[in-house]
Amino acid sequence: MKNRVVLLGPPASGKGTQASLLGAAFGIPHTSTGAMLRTERSKGTALGAEADSFTSRGLLFPDELALRVVSQWIDGRDRFILDGFPRTVGQARSFDGLVDDRSLPLDVVYLLELPDSEVRARMLGRLTCETCGAVFNETFHKMTADSRCSQCGGALARRNDDTEESLARRLTQYRSLTLPVADHYRAAGTLKAIDVAAGRDAVFQTLYNDMKEAA
Ligand SMILES: [Zn+2]
Repeated sequence: MKNRVVLLGPPASGKGTQASLLGAAFGIPHTSTGAMLRTERSKGTALGAEADSFTSRGLLFPDELALRVVSQWIDGRDRFILDGFPRTVGQARSFDGLVDDRSLPLDVVYLLELPDSEVRARMLGRLTCETCGAVFNETFHKMTADSRCSQCGGALARRNDDTEESLARRLTQYRSLTLPVADHYRAAGTLKAIDVAAGRDAVFQTLYNDMKEAA
């Protein structure tokens, strides 16, 4: 089976959801740069403060900082699922060196593919429970911002960054920074593109079956 996995994809492609479903199914630790930095911040570390100095100004943190955070998280692990990292070719090159040094080569990089029109529909229709964090979609779940969370009854709200403006910015960033990462791994022979328009359960089944196979 495959033990070291990277998930890439545009916003709203379901990377985080699949990382967490696959992690649970195979007992493999999974994380994203965002999650690692939230942990650092909550522990009040210098690394957390350093990351905050970028994100609070709406900037992406430097490759070198992302690498330090990932490197620290990977210490002592030989199996992992990374959601949305590496985000740039610079990060990918340094990460190649890191896994090479530890003799822990990546088994596969999945590129979750979704047309822009579908990214838009998913992002702009997204509602998040303010209490438990569950995510719903206006169209799929036939809900409005006045509906209540079906899991805990909490109030629903749109995320601040789910706007037309932010969507355009994130898609541009994805195309200019992250798609070249997919090309990098395609050239290395580790990339598998997966069409995710079929929805969460079908995509999970495809990824699950592929991960069960030898690397
Ligand atoms: Zn809820």
